[in-house]
Amino acid sequence: MLPPIISVAMMAAMGGIDDFWRTRTIAEAEDQGYSHLRVTYSGCGRISDLPWPLLLGRPGIAANTFLSNFKLRCEKCGRNDPVLGVKKHA
Ligand SMILES: [Zn+2]
Repeated sequence: MLPPIISVAMMAAMGGIDDFWRTRTIAEAEDQGYSHLRVTYSGCGRISDLPWPLLLGRPGIAANTFLSNFKLRCEKCGRNDPVLGVKKHA
């Protein structure tokens, strides 16, 4: 039984295993020049980009909220355990 290892390898292949960002806040990511959170759903591979202002508009979300604290669920496959990353606007 090696699902965690396989899953980590899959995430790495998808370009963004990011335990690091799970423990960072919106403010930290913003300070480092990133413009949005990139969420990749592990079930179907759907990618969703969420700009900070959009996230900050959610109830209970502030600049010091950890990126891992968002309740994210894929509309397509229903998975709620997406891979988190951050992106800068090109
Ligand atoms: Zn999905």
